[in-house]
Amino acid sequence: MAKKQFKAESKKLLDLMINSIYTNREIFLRELISNASDAIDKRHYMSLTDTSLSADFKIELTPDAAARTLTITDNGCGMTQSEMETNLGTIAKSGTSEFKAANKTDESLIGQFGVGFYSSFMVADKVTVVSRKAGEEQAYKWESTGADGYTISPCDSGETGTSITLHLKEDDEDCSYGQFTDENALKRLVKKYSDYIRYPIKIKDETVNSMVPLWRKRKSEVQKEDYDRFYREKFFDYQEPANTFVAQVEGNINYSMLVFVPQKAPYDFYSRDYKKGLQLYSGGVLIMEKCADLLPDYLGFMKGLVDSPDISLNISRELLQKDRQMRAIAVSLEKKLRGELSKWLKNDREGYEKFFDEFGNALKMGAYDNFGEKKDELKDLLLFKSSENKYVTFAEYVSRLKEGQDAIYYAVGPNADAIKALPQVEHFAEKGYEILYLQDGIDEFVIKLIENYDGKKFVSVAGKDAAALTDEEKADLEQKTKDSDTVLKKIKELLSGKVKDVRLTARLKSAAVCLTSDSEISLEMEKVLRAMPGNTGVLADRVLELNPAHAAVQKTLALSPDDETLKDHAFALYSAACLNENLPIEDSASLASLLVKLLS
Ligand code: ADP
Repeated sequence: MAKKQFKAESKKLLDLMINSIYTNREIFLRELISNASDAIDKRHYMSLTDTSLSADFKIELTPDAAARTLTITDNGCGMTQSEMETNLGTIAKSGTSEFKAANKTDESLIGQFGVGFYSSFMVADKVTVVSRKAGEEQAYKWESTGADGYTISPCDSGETGTSITLHLKEDDEDCSYGQFTDENALKRLVKKYSDYIRYPIKIKDETVNSMVPLWRKRKSEVQKEDYDRFYREKFFDYQEPANTFVAQVEGNINYSMLVFVPQKAPYDFYSRDYKKGLQLYSGGVLIMEKCADLLPDYLGFMKGLVDSPDISLNISRELLQKDRQMRAIAVSLEKKLRGELSKWLKNDREGYEKFFDEFGNALKMGAYDNFGEKKDELKDLLLFKSSENKYVTFAEYVSRLKEGQDAIYYAVGPNADAIKALPQVEHFAEKGYEILYLQDGIDEFVIKLIENYDGKKFVSVAGKDAAALTDEEKADLEQKTKDSDTVLKKIKELLSGKVKDVRLTARLKSAAVCLTSDSEISLEMEKVLRAMPGNTGVLADRVLELNPAHAAVQKTLALSPDDETLKDHAFALYSAACLNENLPIEDSASLASLLVKLLS
């Protein structure tokens, strides 16, 4: 029979497996048992609607020391001929992509990937797979001695399921492969790696594993490595999770959860294509791979599972959304997970900040969604960078207000440097106020929805109420405004259609002018809204503020309202303010001729 060749990627990995001096060869058993368990999961699920498929589910290990073979048999879903071809002739897609992502052929990494079936070749020089698909008559045999390809042919098998026979390698100085026919050695390996597998793993009719799934154990009983490995294998990540949340909830509603926070957001996380969800188990049986209803959008980055005996086994997908128990679980879970995040923030600040860098936007969107429905639940999980050059929570900000300070000041810009350069920031910095630096488009929208924290209003340093002046400064400003009343009115007239008002300010130090907004829509919000598809043209009420201490402004204010050149002054100051704010100049041609005129 003609031998078929492995696909290129598979061949690379296969070579690596065969020639591996990888010390952890024993992990092959864990990989094969895990595949067997997945296959039983599938048949178990099918049997819920087709009772003819139900069986006494189990995984059997049959060592034969004389023949130097170890056979792993399961009565799971089995494979058709073409499934064997794609599944065993190629590395499962997930495995390949992870392998590519890591872009390493470092042996120590092998054990971290879901390389699964291929790990057989670390201990065997020939592998025979006999499989019969659930519901089919014909069984098939797949056989390979590794690098030179594989064959598939029809064969006899009385049982539905899969049986994998490893013809163990000759012992060498690296490894005594014969140990894998030793019952005690096998028992030890099952205990070590596969104890939580939900189906009995039998050696000569003795069940070796405890069958308590990982998520039903207390966190203190499980090693971190076990969670990490479980996560990587089940959720196809090559990095360990950033955090793992485990709980067994008992009461009105009963469920166990095992939820992971990945280190990195998947590339499509902030796109529409991303599909959130947790695996759903009913009393240990997987009934849904990705149950979206279990997670609110703002926690959509979390991976993991929920297992509840209260969920009916044969609940249909459509009914799931309406199911009372499901809703109760989702509500409880959301609260639980928020609690976990809050503990994380409290106990591991550095870790939480890293997490927030990656997923903070999701939480902010959560606070904003549905007109701030969840803002109170989420506000204490949010972090913002401040003028102190680090992340702060609202609570931290409020705990160190300056005497007499009754507002939380913030400034908006694309990055910290741009914010520091804002003319309005100088005044506050000089007075020693801490300022929140809002650097994401969504930030100011969120802040405006939250409105206040602990009774302190959020105030933009660029907004009209922000000046934070002493009585003396206020009186001085009023006097100056009175003195320049007519010329200010004239400037406003000259800029009509561009700004709603023109006034003097005491909050600028070295800058001559700035633009602010009198309305709820700030200039920064206007920019975000402008950038949105189908924007409704909501504009801020622009106000041009002039610094009377600045020479240029003094020169302008000294002009008579009838002076012909006042028009140029007004336009020049307004344009400078727009440029400062990174706002487009509508009539840039006029500005260009003005500049040239000033030079002539
Ligand atoms: P992975 O388990 O990461 O998908 P593997 O290389 O271990 O990768 O397995 C490839 C595929 O082969 C599995 O996804 C599954 O479809 C199939 N498979 C492996 N072992 C079994 C088995 N015991 N019963 C049924 N199908 C199996």
